[in-house]
Amino acid sequence: MTGLSHNLAGPLAQQIFDDVRAMSPDTAGVSRPAYSEVETAVLDYLSDVALAHGLRVEEDAAKNRWFSLPEHAGAERYAVIGSHVDSVPEGGNFDGLAGVVTGLLVLIGARQTGRRLREPVKVLALRGEESAWFGSCYLGSKALTGLMGPGDLAALHKGDGRTLSDHMAALGIDIQPIAAGRPLIDTSRISQYLELHIEQGPLLVQRAIPAAIVTGIRGNFRFRAIRCIGEGGHSGAVPRAYRHDPVLAMADLLTRLDDSWLHILQTGGDLVLTSGVVGTDPARHAIARIADEITFSLDIRSQSAEILDHMRAYLREEMDEITRIRGVRFETGPEIPAAPAMMDATVVEGLMAAMPRIGQEPFSMASGAGHDAAIFAQAGVPSAMVFVRNRNGSHNPHEAMDLDDFLVGTSIISAYLEEE
Ligand SMILES: [Zn+2]
Repeated sequence: MTGLSHNLAGPLAQQIFDDVRAMSPDTAGVSRPAYSEVETAVLDYLSDVALAHGLRVEEDAAKNRWFSLPEHAGAERYAVIGSHVDSVPEGGNFDGLAGVVTGLLVLIGARQTGRRLREPVKVLALRGEESAWFGSCYLGSKALTGLMGPGDLAALHKGDGRTLSDHMAALGIDIQPIAAGRPLIDTSRISQYLELHIEQGPLLVQRAIPAAIVTGIRGNFRFRAIRCIGEGGHSGAVPRAYRHDPVLAMADLLTRLDDSWLHILQTGGDLVLTSGVVGTDPARHAIARIADEITFSLDIRSQSAEILDHMRAYLREEMDEITRIRGVRFETGPEIPAAPAMMDATVVEGLMAAMPRIGQEPFSMASGAGHDAAIFAQAGVPSAMVFVRNRNGSHNPHEAMDLDDFLVGTSIISAYLEEE
C-alpha cells in the first residue's frame, strides 16, 4: 500500500484548516494579506505543528518557511512541495494553504509510518503569492529565485499605499539581494517542485473527478489601472459631437476586446479577459456630469504566448483607434506580465503513474490561474501540480474542497515520492 494513511492524515489536516481559518477571519471568508503579521502568525502556527511532529523548521532570507525531516535538513539535493499561505481579501481558506498542508502531511506520514521517501523532501510555505495586495503576484517565490523585478518592489499596497519593499523591510527582510535579482537559494539543488492546489474552475466538479495532474499554467498580462482621459462637461448641455466621454470610450474598448475574445474561442484559441475594477472618481463626478476620466483594470490570460502577444498588439491598435475617433487618451501605466509555464513532462508522467497506485484513473488538465509553480518552472526547476476538486471557484469565501478529495490529491504526491 502506497500513499497516505487517511486515518492519520484526515484529522490533522482538518485541525490545521480549522485553526488557520480561525486565525484569519474577515467580514466574509478569510484575509491573510501578503507580508503581514497575519501571514507571519500562520507561518508560526504551521512551524509549531511541524515541530510538534518532529520536523525541522527553517526560514530563508525572504522569510518564507521550510519544513523537513530532521535527517534531510542538510540534504545536498531535494524535492520541494510548496504553496502559499496568503489569501486574497475575504478569500477562501484552502487556496494556497492546502498545498502547504499536503507537504506537512507527506513528511509527517513518512515519519509516522516509516515509509521511505525516494529522495529528501522539503516543504516550502511561501508568502505573498496573491496579486490582490500589491498588484503583482508570486512575490515569495520570485524573491527566492531572483526573479523579482524593480516594478514588483516599488508596487504599492492596496490598503496603506506603502511599497512592497517597505513591507518586506518591516518584516526584517534584506531587500538588497532581492533588488539585485540574486537568487536566495541554489535552485540547481532542487530536483523538482510539486504543488497541490484547489482547482479554481469547474472542470473537476463537472467531470466528477477528485484530483488531476496539471500540464501547464496560463500566462497573463495585466494593467492595474488604465486611465482613460477625456473632457468633463454638463450631461445635458454638450451635444454628442462635442463630447470626449472616457466612460463610453472604455465601454467601446471592452466591447471590441470581447468581440475579439469570442473570435479567438471560435477558432480554437485559449483566452480569458477581465476588467474587474472600474470607476470614475465619485468625489469629482456626478450623475449630471460627463466624467473627465475613468480608471479600469485589465487582466488578459492565455496558455499561448502567441495569443497573448496578439492581444497585446490588438489592445494597442484599438486604443489608438478609439483615441482618434473619440478624442480621448489612454494611459495604461506599467504592464504586469507573467509568461505561460509548461509543467515538466517527466514529473507529470510520474504523478500520472502514481494515480492508479492509489486507486484513481489518471487525468490531466491545464491550469487557468497562475501559481508559484510557474516561477519555479521559469527558474529551471522541473515542476508539476496536482489540482483538487473544489466547488464555487476561489478568491471568494465560498470555495469548498472536501477533505476526502484533498486526501486523494495528497496521496498522489505522497505515493509519487515514496519508494515503491
Ligand atoms: Zn493560490
